[in-house]
Amino acid sequence: MYGAHGGPRLLLRRLREVMAEPVSPQARLDKIVVHIAVNMVAEVCSVYVLRADGWLELYATEGLNREAVHLTMMRSGEGLVGRIAETAEPLALPNAQQHPSFSYRPETGEEIYSSFLGVPILRGGNTLGVLVVQNKARRNYSEEEVEVLQTTAMLLAEMIASGELQSLVLPGIDIALRRPLALKGTPIADGVGLGHVVLHEPRIIIKQLIAEDTMLEMERLDRAIGAMRESIDALIESRNMGPGEHRDVLETFRMFAHDRGWLRRLREAVSTGLTAEAAVERVQNDARAKLQRRTEPFMRERLHDLDDLANRLLHQLTGQSFVTAHEDLPDNAIIVARTMGPAALLEYDRSKVRGLVIEDGGAGSHVAIVARALGIAAAGDVANIIDFVEPGDALIVDGGSGDVHVRPPPDVQHAYAEKARMRARRQEQYLKLRDVPAVTRDGVPIDLHMNAGLLVDLEHVEETGAASIGLFRTELQFMLAPRFPRMSEQEALYRSALDSVQGKPITFRTLDIGSDKILPYMTQVDEENPALGWRAIRIGLDRPGLLRSQLRGLLRAGAGRELRIMFPMIAMLEEFETAKALVKRELDLLVRNNRQPPSDLKLGIMVEVPSLLWQLDEICQQVDFLSVGSNDLVQYLYAADRDNKRVSERFDPLSAPILRVLKFIAEKADAAGTPVTLCGEIGGRPLEAMALLALGFRGLSMSAAAIGPVKAMVLATHLGEVEAFVADLIARETGGHSLRDTLRKFGKARGIPV
Ligand code: PEP
Ligand code: MG
Repeated sequence: MYGAHGGPRLLLRRLREVMAEPVSPQARLDKIVVHIAVNMVAEVCSVYVLRADGWLELYATEGLNREAVHLTMMRSGEGLVGRIAETAEPLALPNAQQHPSFSYRPETGEEIYSSFLGVPILRGGNTLGVLVVQNKARRNYSEEEVEVLQTTAMLLAEMIASGELQSLVLPGIDIALRRPLALKGTPIADGVGLGHVVLHEPRIIIKQLIAEDTMLEMERLDRAIGAMRESIDALIESRNMGPGEHRDVLETFRMFAHDRGWLRRLREAVSTGLTAEAAVERVQNDARAKLQRRTEPFMRERLHDLDDLANRLLHQLTGQSFVTAHEDLPDNAIIVARTMGPAALLEYDRSKVRGLVIEDGGAGSHVAIVARALGIAAAGDVANIIDFVEPGDALIVDGGSGDVHVRPPPDVQHAYAEKARMRARRQEQYLKLRDVPAVTRDGVPIDLHMNAGLLVDLEHVEETGAASIGLFRTELQFMLAPRFPRMSEQEALYRSALDSVQGKPITFRTLDIGSDKILPYMTQVDEENPALGWRAIRIGLDRPGLLRSQLRGLLRAGAGRELRIMFPMIAMLEEFETAKALVKRELDLLVRNNRQPPSDLKLGIMVEVPSLLWQLDEICQQVDFLSVGSNDLVQYLYAADRDNKRVSERFDPLSAPILRVLKFIAEKADAAGTPVTLCGEIGGRPLEAMALLALGFRGLSMSAAAIGPVKAMVLATHLGEVEAFVADLIARETGGHSLRDTLRKFGKARGIPV
């Protein structure tokens, strides 16, 4: 029977005309429902719009009582309409009133209608409303009719997304699309950013939904699919890959690109009268709505693949590029990206970027390293953020907690603006401390050093007043590079680093890769326990060519000046001796080649493997300095993976066992006259740092942002007092529980900012 009134294409043509008419939004909606009802030979056609407060409100109807418009409302999940909104699935019923979800609304006069067909109004997989047709006669709606109604719903989705319907709602109420949202991600880089959304990859704008010529659109679709498949094949060929994980991923991708079901759905969507690009969006909307509700990681991966394919198709069809608008960046941009490489973030004008939100990528991602180095507040793993925002939307990101507020209500906005102001004020105070020497109240000087890993980090040295770079994590350069950096590239980087800190020393740590620090271009070794596996100096000693090229780069860069080199993950003295011999070889070579050696070369090790604790006497005789890598040392002492949330916070480093170990190290080094610092995270936290001073540490290395707060602690601390307190505390303590509260109480009582 369908088609008697002109079929789907005629309907779409009519709707296109209505969309172009210069009438009020309500009049437009009223006309739309009439056209749909006539075309589908239904007595009723109604549009419900989902509001920000969770209610579905009747916005227009043909056939039901007009008085009910803007009065009839139901909760998402309530009644048939609510059920469609909740499940994001169409519902076709020959006898609606017998359905268990049917809920009768006397004001609508709908009791006389027997058959019911409803579809969700979707955008990016999110429900914006529900479109319904009803018939008096009992009838089964055909699949084609369901299709047509879904296509029509897309048009309504555009109308809702354009903001046109906003004028129809009561003041103070938003339609769902524009509602404030609080999303939770994972913390990437501390700080609070308030600003407006800039999409890293601009969304493709589909200008024409309805086809002029369906045959032509079918051809366009086929051509685009062909071109997309070729580009994927070329990608696989160009990488010239052997079997392995990357190849598997791309092969899966290729499989999806040939998936019959997907291609059939695309074709069907075009045959209902959509343009090829609108068909891609239609099919992708449905896929998102279905897959987003699945929780299995496999299904979510599949959604990413399909998203990626759909995007590629849209780019083919519209000719719009992926290019980001770096030029007209607003002054307070919050960059929102599905994924992002580290280099891409560096391309934005830092002075205008207030924050970064990433859908797919957490604290361990490479872009996270760069965000931290640049001091940009950032949150990661924020599910579906791309679908929830529009360019220009107000957005707040709290990089310390991972909270993201989209279109925040005024009270949230005020609270965060206040938080940001407080931070800025504190930052200003710390800046004032920059040239104040870090000396305790009883006159003991403390050296505060800075941790770094990228050249951009080093820009902060001046503003922090750090004594030196106490830890330069050289692996970051390797992690961000597309391939193994050549010796000359390493040399250039180390030279720039030394040049940029104006005579302050830099302690370069040799390549600390393995475990969670992966080099994408290096063959992966499968290990049961990577944290206990082949990493850091172990790789360096087994692949001496690699370590030697780094040492050569360092020695050359350090020509004529002080150079400090530190080896990570040393477990026994002999490893240091071997490494030292490699340095000696490179140094001899340098001299033989008539190159200038460093004026002063110091070699040290990180104390982060517990076996070293019982070799400290011998080690102190051999090294020029020690640096405690408390992040690793604590993870090994407690046998608790530092990156595994389930156990990483189970044990507190502020406990007697750990504090005793740290005291032991400080005392051994002191007795041998070997300089010792600590460069793990605890060195940058005022409370922990206060305890470290008490244990005997006089040098701490920390992130740039931590130097101000730690210096404020140092200035307020009477070292003699805290030494006595902590010594007594850990001597008396009989268990392993946290001493955090006791220490905090001590600090607070003495006005120490901990
Ligand atoms: C540490 O282990 O404490 C350390 C400073 O090194 P990383 O965090 O780079 O392992
Ligand atoms: Mg370490």
